[in-house]
Amino acid sequence: MQNVLLKVNNLKKYFPKRTTSFKKISHVKAVDDVSFEVFEGETLGIVGESGCGKSTTGRTIMRLLEPTSGSIEFNGEDLSRLSKKGMRQKRRDIQMVFQDPYASLNPRHTVQKILEEPLIVHGIGNSQERKEKVAEYLEIVGLDSYHGKRYPHQFSGGQRQRVGIARALMTNPKLIIADEPVSALDVSIQAQVLNLMQRLQEDLKLTYIFIAHDLGVVRHISDRVAVMYLGSVVELAESESLYAEPLHPYTQALLSAVPIPDPTFEREKMIIAGDIASSVTDTGCKFQARCPYATITCKMKIPDLVEVKPGHSVACHLYSTD
Ligand code: SF4
Repeated sequence: MQNVLLKVNNLKKYFPKRTTSFKKISHVKAVDDVSFEVFEGETLGIVGESGCGKSTTGRTIMRLLEPTSGSIEFNGEDLSRLSKKGMRQKRRDIQMVFQDPYASLNPRHTVQKILEEPLIVHGIGNSQERKEKVAEYLEIVGLDSYHGKRYPHQFSGGQRQRVGIARALMTNPKLIIADEPVSALDVSIQAQVLNLMQRLQEDLKLTYIFIAHDLGVVRHISDRVAVMYLGSVVELAESESLYAEPLHPYTQALLSAVPIPDPTFEREKMIIAGDIASSVTDTGCKFQARCPYATITCKMKIPDLVEVKPGHSVACHLYSTD
């Protein structure tokens, strides 16, 4: 049986939004009652369109954003109850890799200084040990130790993301939350960085949450995939099962848009009307305005995320047994 490293329970992150009548405050439900587990050593992909709440979920787990409610159990400890200081210490075990390595690396610092910083923050090693560790991790991510003397602007996009990955690894974390880590890179470089992340996962026994909008990329690296729509997980399954037999109409539509590298195989295109912003609703299924199968029940009742096959859960009334 696999060990659960992270357990997210009923996580919510709401942002206040003023309505036209200035006394009333409504909320943008960026993360709306999300629950999932991440097993030790696996990669859980979180996928969805821009604005679906996937990045906010990652940042709320890290407590870069404070959760509105819910719990985040990491190794049995609820991160949402930790003090700010306690959470800072816990970030030694949970690190993040960002989409834009250029924006996330201080342009005025050498790579040596950037990589040493997390070690200094967490009081790891003396000056000589830190220097050695920086050289070791530069090599682990496929760079040379002399690259430590350079500044971020002196690297290509792919090399900068390798620096971003090395920085995340410096404190020997157990969990890495990678938020669109290859989206800003050329396709050829994307494959190199994905292969690097897979090799590091095996060598260093890492667990990943891999957030992306591109289903092709997520498939390449994930053991299981959670599909998000408007702040909710609408489908969660093992990668193979999800790609072979997507159940939720939204997942079906997303997958029908992914090109297949086999010219003899044609998949039926499923076009969904509107965009994510046009489908906000207070009652029923959040996908109802865009769903070709919506019924009156969908307008009235929110579908629960229910396991309909072993390891394959979906939130859609089409699969309800009531
Ligand atoms: Fe479509 Fe209804 Fe399923 Fe929502 S619950 S995805 S509206 S069929």
